[in-house]
Amino acid sequence: MQPDGGWHRGQQEDRRFGVEGRVVRGVGGFFDVQSGNEIVRCRARGVFRKRGTTVVVGDWVNWEPASEDEAQSGEAVITGVYPRSTELVRPPMANCDTAVLVFSVRTPDFQGQLLDRTLVSVTNAGLFAVIVLSKIDLLPLEEVQQLAEPYERAGYQVLKVGRGYDGEVARLKEALAGHVSVFAGPSGAGKSSLANLLAPELGLKMGSISEKAGRGRHTTRHVELFPLGPSTFVADAPGFSKLDVDVDSAELRHYFPEFAELAENCPYRGCQHVHESTCAVKDAVETGQLSASRYESYRALYEELRIKEERRY
Ligand code: ZN
Repeated sequence: MQPDGGWHRGQQEDRRFGVEGRVVRGVGGFFDVQSGNEIVRCRARGVFRKRGTTVVVGDWVNWEPASEDEAQSGEAVITGVYPRSTELVRPPMANCDTAVLVFSVRTPDFQGQLLDRTLVSVTNAGLFAVIVLSKIDLLPLEEVQQLAEPYERAGYQVLKVGRGYDGEVARLKEALAGHVSVFAGPSGAGKSSLANLLAPELGLKMGSISEKAGRGRHTTRHVELFPLGPSTFVADAPGFSKLDVDVDSAELRHYFPEFAELAENCPYRGCQHVHESTCAVKDAVETGQLSASRYESYRALYEELRIKEERRY
């Protein structure tokens, strides 16, 4: 990401100066940096542009008060950016570690393929995924459980919430504590109602942003970290569900954790579980041991990636 050694050298020098903080908001070319308990409005030093470095929400930075020759309107100056643990392109965001994928079981109907794609894409981005099934009061509980079961079997944490079913919100709070999370999922799945249960102010923010997005306003670049507790932030970022899946087709099987144990019985080494004549994963779909919808998501995504790769070469 940062190809030349100069960047690293520069950064080391920069780090000796200034105070550490985290960028929580970008406002018209300025950045609000949370540093201890205060928010400091900073601008990024022009030298970043020359290096091709950008400052994005979530970045850990060093800042210092503006020197006399740099002082234009009293803002502080970001002097260094720390290496990022994760980077999202849309929304542009750094060091986010958890994706909360909110999918309703009804209105709109559960979108398994979209959830499966999103799981691949956030895992590929280095994020830990937590699945929230919302509006569970709209479906008989055994059907909710049928939707949840393949994901629980694959090892994901699945929380179930709905009107009259707020008990698991406490478990969501536990999952978020100490992390920087982004909420994703189809519109209408109830992201802002869920956020409202976490903190009313967060719910309001998320609601107003998705409303603007619904009116066609370009808001996907707006990101803000909302503090839920010490070291706990939630990004109120819309447009996240459109993330492309950028994985090699041959690697895709590793993004379906429930395949791993079954695949040990596939006779072909490196079996892709698609066109092979004998395959333990395909057998498991036949016997109902493996979720047919999860396998179908895999197969569809595999073919899509293959086509993309063939066009590339
Ligand atoms: Zn196989």
